[in-house]
Amino acid sequence: MKRIVVKVGSNVLTREDGTLDTTRVSALTDQIQALRSRGIEVILVTSGAVACGRSLCQAAPGLDEVQQRQLHAAVGQVRLMDLYYRLFADYGIRVGQILSMKKNFEPGEEYENQRRCMEGMLRSGVLPIVNENDAVSITELMFTDNDELSGLVAAMMGADTLIILSNIDGLYDGDPSAPGSRVIARVRPSEDLSTVIGEAHSSAGRGGMHTKYGVAKRLSAGGIRVLLACGKRDDVLTLLADNPAGIVHTEFSVQ
Ligand code: GLU
Repeated sequence: MKRIVVKVGSNVLTREDGTLDTTRVSALTDQIQALRSRGIEVILVTSGAVACGRSLCQAAPGLDEVQQRQLHAAVGQVRLMDLYYRLFADYGIRVGQILSMKKNFEPGEEYENQRRCMEGMLRSGVLPIVNENDAVSITELMFTDNDELSGLVAAMMGADTLIILSNIDGLYDGDPSAPGSRVIARVRPSEDLSTVIGEAHSSAGRGGMHTKYGVAKRLSAGGIRVLLACGKRDDVLTLLADNPAGIVHTEFSVQ
């Protein structure tokens, strides 16, 4: 691994009541620091703003659903970045925030600006932390979810690996909650497993296995390895880097 994108889902970052799971965020921060100290360039794509904002502030009566989401995203994003800022500062790591929108990924000036910005951050030793600009982008202008965003970022930045952390261990060969279902260890570009994917959606964010699978297939066909793993497992990132056999996960390999 030389340059990786790590996407962390809302269910990993927040507790049941929507408040930020600071212990978990802290553990992930430690691991990202460990990867960086090995010379791996890391870009973090984080969800959790809306879920966190919901737990922090109640919308005024009369706000429509879109306004409520915008409000919660705006409030939660600050809280989220405040936590990352402080945790990474303890390691002397500077973080920078990128709030992105779907239209920024269309070919053209904005795409190039965004890419150059993140490239400059990496060259300066700054950790780019990316989320969707949820306060501004709404409905059809939105990404399907942050899994899609993380795939676009990985492709844009020429990452060799995308790690998607959610609250399940990977792609299962059946219903993840059914006894006997197992995590598929490896999916090759030639394999089509679209029929085994469950319908389950994230309870806290917008993601689900369908987008993860679609993103992973697209990226691995294009030469970027994708790893799906559970972000709640201890040392998940460092194990995936150093001893992948030591942690259950799904790898979408490039060959
Ligand atoms: N961008 C949203 C947030 O920060 C999450 C979108 C998703 O669930 O993928 O809350």
